[in-house]
Amino acid sequence: MSKWEKNVRKVVPYTPGEQPKIKNIIKLNTNENPYPPAPGVLDALKKIDIDSLKLYPDPSAQNLVDALAEFYGLRSNQVFVGVGSDDVLAMLFLTFFNSEKPILFPDITYSFYDVWADMLRIPYEVQPLDENLHMKKEDYYKENGGVIFPNPNAPTGVLQELSDIEDIVKHNQDVIVIIDEAYIDFGGKSALSLIEKYDNVVIVQTFSKSRSMAGMRIGYAMANEKLIKYLNDVKYSFNSYTMNTTAIALGVPAVKDREYFEKTVRKVITTRERVKKELKELGFVFEDSMSNFLFVTHKELSMEKLFMDLRKEGIIVRHFDKPERIREYLRITIGTDEQMDTLIGFLKQYL
Ligand code: PMP
Repeated sequence: MSKWEKNVRKVVPYTPGEQPKIKNIIKLNTNENPYPPAPGVLDALKKIDIDSLKLYPDPSAQNLVDALAEFYGLRSNQVFVGVGSDDVLAMLFLTFFNSEKPILFPDITYSFYDVWADMLRIPYEVQPLDENLHMKKEDYYKENGGVIFPNPNAPTGVLQELSDIEDIVKHNQDVIVIIDEAYIDFGGKSALSLIEKYDNVVIVQTFSKSRSMAGMRIGYAMANEKLIKYLNDVKYSFNSYTMNTTAIALGVPAVKDREYFEKTVRKVITTRERVKKELKELGFVFEDSMSNFLFVTHKELSMEKLFMDLRKEGIIVRHFDKPERIREYLRITIGTDEQMDTLIGFLKQYL
């Protein structure tokens, strides 16, 4: 082994869901939105001046920050944007999780949290979900270096009540509490109001799901201006130009079109509710989901085998090998009605 090996930051990376190159598949594995972005996004794309790409982008991404502040009724200095919520979350870990005490998050959750914690040498302690895959708020009453969880949780889809979230915040006023609301628009109530009431709460959201723009990579954090200032200080010490010119230009019309956003989200919800009924009739078991995916299991089927058999049919869903507790589950993204009909049709035959 070379001597320099001991100085390498060795990490076990996060494994993103597959982006298969095969054509004509039904892709239900990474919780993307099956509908296109708002029409204004295409108009904005056509209007991009090629010459503008010679220049560095606006490091503050002000137009996008202002559009988001207006949409949520905030001041612009309460909003931070990044390259997808993954970038925003990584910056949050770096900025706010610097205690020697462990940060807390659920045992079954977004599998990037432990990767960032390991990479940044942040101690952590996972808190087991109960047998129905719900968080137990009392688990978060102990001393810690910070708290993070998604609401609704992923990959379970389970939504925690706002009163429970506030309870967790109340018990953790000496640390930063991050609520990852990647899926909140599909029927949950956002905890955004808590940022005015508590100075230690950060809400993170994304354009990847409800705004159909996973490929554009836009995420954002909302918190009181002091936290946003700390976050920007770290960002500017790392990479000033995280948001590119195109992402800033296309993000703005996506935020401004509230009507299209609400319509698209409603369509996904309607499909989800119908699919819930149909899967139940076929014997699938799952906790109620308030996200754009269902986390299902079945007493008579192996989920690993079903995953492979669906794949042979060109239907790609997500199966997790770890933790052990969720090996008998599949996570199925809600696609268009047509895509879901094909899935249900296959499952009927399969059973
Ligand atoms: N949080 C959760 C809970 C997620 O499931 C995802 C999607 N992988 C993200 C954050 C990151 O999404 P993005 O970087 O596309 O905003």
